[in-house]
Amino acid sequence: ALDIGHDLGRVILNARTFQREHELVVELQALDTYKSQLISTISHELKNPLTSVRGYLELLEGSTTLGAEEQRAVQAMGRGTDRLGRVVDDLLLMSKVGDPHHRIIPVAVDLARVVGEVLDLLSVTVSTKQLAVSTDLPDAPVAALGDETEIDRLVANLVSNAVKYTPVGRAVAVKVDRDGDHVVLEVSDQGLGISEADQEHLFEEFFRSTNPAATSLPGTGLGLAIVKRIVERHDGAIDVRSTLGKGSTFTVRLPVAG
Ligand code: ADP
Repeated sequence: ALDIGHDLGRVILNARTFQREHELVVELQALDTYKSQLISTISHELKNPLTSVRGYLELLEGSTTLGAEEQRAVQAMGRGTDRLGRVVDDLLLMSKVGDPHHRIIPVAVDLARVVGEVLDLLSVTVSTKQLAVSTDLPDAPVAALGDETEIDRLVANLVSNAVKYTPVGRAVAVKVDRDGDHVVLEVSDQGLGISEADQEHLFEEFFRSTNPAATSLPGTGLGLAIVKRIVERHDGAIDVRSTLGKGSTFTVRLPVAG
């Protein structure tokens, strides 16, 4: 009888612990939703005034009555608002791709075309940094099934990181291939590399590396968090292999179209 009482006591205790854990999970989920809504509201509120500030700055930039010092000030304000604009755009995109109610309309997205467009946009930085960029693209188009804008952004974030975190004169390689039911995108660089400790946090929102060579470069720490969410929304997978001081390879698998 004593044992039964003891066992019963343990069962009740376990049930209470389980209930408390369940309540904690529900509380955390509510907090997470609140945080996402807060980020979304703040970024929407910032967007409008920022658009008007940018508009007036453009007007000032075109003015012929400004002295040299005033022109420098207007240019500095332009750079500041551009940067703020990128942060706000990233925040807006992050709340969009993090919202489970926001459904994607899948289409066939030719990855080689996206890679080409992204590299075109980065061509000035690539030539300024004298990077050796090579591509290994399939002869016949290989299309991923997904949201065109989101896949563009995924490729842009990975390739621009490779370009950003790779020192002058080194190499960046982009490969697209098909593997069964998947399209595989591989972005490799001979850049700064990422320590094992940092790799654990790489896809968290606002995470930036502890490596001083990386933190001295501008960034929001949202790029890879956005990539990860986009990959998850497309039932894909992402993997990183990296050695500090040597370079990194990001591999993304997305469902193939057709
Ligand atoms: P951001 O580049 O805006 O800081 P990301 O989310 O894109 O944000 O990346 C998070 C961090 O991961 C970066 O701050 C950088 O330290 C590191 N990182 C990302 N990509 C690379 C890369 N290709 N090589 C080295 N470090 C990288």
